[in-house]
Amino acid sequence: MTAQLIDGKQIAEIVKAEVAAEVAILAEQSIVPRLVAIIVGEDPASQVYVRNKERACLKAGIAGDVVRLASSITQSELLDQISALNHDDSVHGILVQLPLPAHLDSMAVLDAIHPGKDVDGFHPENVGLMLQGRPRFLPCTPHGVMKLIQTTGVSTVGAHAVVIGRSDIVGKPMAALLVQKGVDATVTICHSRTRNIGEITRQADILIAAVGIPEFVTGAMIRPGAVVIDVGINRREDRIVGDVQFESAVQVASAITPVPGGVGPMTIAMLLRNTLTAARLLSGQ
Ligand code: NAD
Repeated sequence: MTAQLIDGKQIAEIVKAEVAAEVAILAEQSIVPRLVAIIVGEDPASQVYVRNKERACLKAGIAGDVVRLASSITQSELLDQISALNHDDSVHGILVQLPLPAHLDSMAVLDAIHPGKDVDGFHPENVGLMLQGRPRFLPCTPHGVMKLIQTTGVSTVGAHAVVIGRSDIVGKPMAALLVQKGVDATVTICHSRTRNIGEITRQADILIAAVGIPEFVTGAMIRPGAVVIDVGINRREDRIVGDVQFESAVQVASAITPVPGGVGPMTIAMLLRNTLTAARLLSGQ
């Protein structure tokens, strides 16, 4: 078997076009969604992500600004910047690009973002709403993954979904979305202390890898016919690879996301969707 490729790039284009059309309608009421991304320091990967987000905003008719701050910034200076954006009515979405330099307390920084402007969906209020099944903003990467799974046509109802990774930004919210009523998957979360991981992943109808270890999931860890979603982005000298060893996995899975061109583009598309939602909610539309 050779798996069907899940074309995240193409699906993201569709989502972005939908958002752009809705942004154009909102603009008729003189409301232009505005997203401000804060980047601290010079991390090259973060610079690329922020530039891509900025470009995608502009294409969708969303005003995208970047606040670039020196890595020497103090916690209180950064919190002051966030507070100013919280109080600026022209700003609908605020995101702080992670990771932050080690001397800054990321959790306190994310907590400081106005929950109505938290388009990454990381604020505890938004995490709580998502968990309870009444989301304001869905976290972008797990939301993108849900869209990709939907496009395969594979039913999640009663399916065994195995998520590898338990981070606050991918693994945990991913599992939370899969277990919601209406999605109805049976969910297992694997992490760095999980024993006999291959035995568990081989039971998955839907396998989601968010490990941060290049090519961690091999074909031998995949149940024949499973849907495999690779969230990983790992930079090698010559190319970017995922958390799944594509060459062996593609022989076993029924559908698989490539890296790049799978989950990555969806994350940005969902960020635009959240920024539009924020603009609507904050302007009472
Ligand atoms: P993280 O480092 O915060 O979390 C990794 C998780 O993997 C941890 O919860 C850990 O328990 C688990 N893990 C580590 N070693 C393991 C092992 N040997 N066996 C089983 N589990 C193990 O990473 P993250 O922020 O969740 O990101 C995961 C990957 O997804 C990274 O490659 C990251 O670059 C990528 N990512 C991609 C996007 C996107 O838009 N495509 C967005 C966010 C993150």
